[in-house]
Amino acid sequence: MFPLQEKYNQLILRPKEQAKSAWGGKPSTPVQESSLTTELVSLILTEAVTSRASDIHIEPNKNFIRIRFRIDGKLYNVLEMIENNEVHLLARIKVLANIPTDAVSSRKSWDSRFSMMVLGQEFDFRIATFPILLGEKMAIRILNKNSELVDLKRIGLRPGPYALLEQIIQRKSGLLVVSGPTGGGKTTTLYSILKRLNAPTVNIVTLENPVEYQIDGLNQCDINKKVSEDFTSALRATLRQDPDIILIGEIRDSESAEIALRASITGHFVLTSLHANSAIGTVMRLINMGVERHVIAYALAGAICQHLVPRICDKCRTPYTISADKFHAICEQFGISPTLFRDKSPKAEGDIHYLKVASENSTPSRDFTFYKGAGCDVCKGTGYLGMIGVFEIVQFTEDLREAVLNNISSAEVEALAVKKGFQSMAVDALEKVKSGVIRFDDIYSVLLEKLR
Ligand SMILES: [Zn+2]
Repeated sequence: MFPLQEKYNQLILRPKEQAKSAWGGKPSTPVQESSLTTELVSLILTEAVTSRASDIHIEPNKNFIRIRFRIDGKLYNVLEMIENNEVHLLARIKVLANIPTDAVSSRKSWDSRFSMMVLGQEFDFRIATFPILLGEKMAIRILNKNSELVDLKRIGLRPGPYALLEQIIQRKSGLLVVSGPTGGGKTTTLYSILKRLNAPTVNIVTLENPVEYQIDGLNQCDINKKVSEDFTSALRATLRQDPDIILIGEIRDSESAEIALRASITGHFVLTSLHANSAIGTVMRLINMGVERHVIAYALAGAICQHLVPRICDKCRTPYTISADKFHAICEQFGISPTLFRDKSPKAEGDIHYLKVASENSTPSRDFTFYKGAGCDVCKGTGYLGMIGVFEIVQFTEDLREAVLNNISSAEVEALAVKKGFQSMAVDALEKVKSGVIRFDDIYSVLLEKLR
């Protein structure tokens, strides 16, 4: 499935074979280890990039080193190599990332990064080492710095939620919170919004840790690199820069929450991210951080909760049937009405990630069609090609603000929101399942988690 093992074998065997032809089978002088290691590192990084991997794991085992790639959210074994190469492999990557390579240093964990051009594009590699029983483990996060990739039209919003978000972000003041798990695509969404709002007429200032994409026209501050200032004073400094729009990478504590919310009620549109399990759950998170209800009710413009799910490969998408009974049971489990999915009309143009399907499934008694990827050359047999977000978006309109102010529970606020047209993540996910964009199996555990 992945050619790395074969390429590695060729790389390791190459000197002997070359020598054979040149020297008539006599043993050759081994290739210089350092150059072999350099080639190996470049081979692994290039292969990771071509496989669209988001992470590389280098793991010591008893007799070999295992290398795994995380592709479209799932881990795949891509290489097992003999032990004595490990030392050089890790050492070479550590040199690139300015991490000490001596024995004492390898007994503690390190965080670092380096940038490198791979196949003509600039990538950031974030290195984290971790001493384990059998040696040293390394995880490498790969970030494509090409900000062209950040586009609000391409993150996977269906036309309805897209229009809703457009409405929220046109505000001059207020707070928009994006929540979801780590690796759930929050950063991409925030940058996509900033890029959408970026114009010569507005001053956008960001406070990030770290800056993941550089976008022309934005005043981006990497809090990591501002050693002399703590987060709170950097945040105060941001406010003195006459901003219209402020991005605060993450609200970390009650003090930064307080400043962010105050900024959002004094004529700034503030974007940030939080760890919350649902869009409505944002309110509770902010309350738990010590922000007063009336401030939240006044400040909160909208909240997004999102997860990333692997997309089914377009080239090998295969339908399978699910009975109407089972589909209804699924809908019931997640508290949605199956009638939402009847009479599918063609979707609006413009959302290139949303597939149009024939108007099937119009009567509840008929079977439903779900999809999966069978595996092909394009997706390297995985059945997936890329990731897509599943979303829930709530706009805090007058009556929802009042509900927040009046101390009613999250469940009640959500019920009220649903009455006003709020669609839960389950609705968005099932829409995407039924359109053949994602697999039901990949979303099921995400939705179950939200039920808890
Ligand atoms: Zn495929």
